[in-house]
Amino acid sequence: MRATVIHAPYDIRVEEVPDPIIRQPTDVLVRVLRSCICGSDLWPYRGEVARKPEPGARIGHEFLGVVTDAGSEVTGFAAGDLVVAPFLWSDGVCDFCQEGLQTSCVRGGGWGSPEVDGGQGEAVRVPFADGTLVKLPAEAASDDRLLTALLSLSDVMGTGHHAAVGAGVRPGSTVAVVGDGAVGLCGVLAARRLGAERIIMLGRHRARTDIATSFGATDIVAERGDAAVAAVRELTGGQGAHAVIEAVGTEQSMTTALGIARAGGAIGYVGAPHGSGDGVNLRTMFDANIALRGGVAPVRAYIPELLPDVLDGTIDPSPVFDLTVGLDEVPGGYKAMNDRAALKVLIKP
Ligand SMILES: [Zn+2]
Repeated sequence: MRATVIHAPYDIRVEEVPDPIIRQPTDVLVRVLRSCICGSDLWPYRGEVARKPEPGARIGHEFLGVVTDAGSEVTGFAAGDLVVAPFLWSDGVCDFCQEGLQTSCVRGGGWGSPEVDGGQGEAVRVPFADGTLVKLPAEAASDDRLLTALLSLSDVMGTGHHAAVGAGVRPGSTVAVVGDGAVGLCGVLAARRLGAERIIMLGRHRARTDIATSFGATDIVAERGDAAVAAVRELTGGQGAHAVIEAVGTEQSMTTALGIARAGGAIGYVGAPHGSGDGVNLRTMFDANIALRGGVAPVRAYIPELLPDVLDGTIDPSPVFDLTVGLDEVPGGYKAMNDRAALKVLIKP
């Protein structure tokens, strides 16, 4: 089969790789119908990771598709089932999985490691299928928009929701969102879904702020840095936002998040840290009783909660995908996202 591999920074290729086979009785094989490129895929793409991927390493961690074969111990899935995968696989039975923190599964792992296929390819061997996958209604396979919306449950929508939960969004909350990427935009959707009354989006890219407005943002702040902090303070009567979603991960984004958080409020941080630790000022947090919650999102735990709302159209994250490519065009998709010419790239293998 064909799959996406990374050889070196800025060197993404689509190559012939071995077809996946059932290796463990708890595996299933999935033929990928939809995959996508994540903002976090850009870190290895740019070479901005501590441990460089091995040349030829597989990549991609968001996908949905159809089960083509199931191991003998798989009870929840059979050939023909439409399924979505979270961005990590997990056994579903350990203490952490039982607590809804599948990201800390003691036997779990990531897609694209040497033994496990990446998501940006034609097919994937899924370990611990019963613990990892979630079944989707078969009818969704014939609805192109819905299928795209459901793919967001693999990562961005669940991650935006995790940020909103971490930030303590409640009915009536004032929320501010730092980061106009797909996760930040899904954070807007999640905040509205949780009953936020006012949602302030920080961003200046018109195509993105338009999506934010359609997702429920009530105010757009185009300023950056100190000017953004002043603008949000002015919009909130000097107080700041009860709930701040931090979806970038840099020192500046965290400094801004802290600057716009209301005393007694919380920051939900889901941007993979690339310097954001340097923006955490404990003295400021201490003096104003600001909490910091979040981390890598256990999206597997959120899929059952969010799925009905995606299916009935209560939330439709599909607009975050603004460019669609075939498998052979994936390298161009990375370039488009890296150049910020695309917000999030959908892959139809
Ligand atoms: Zn587990």
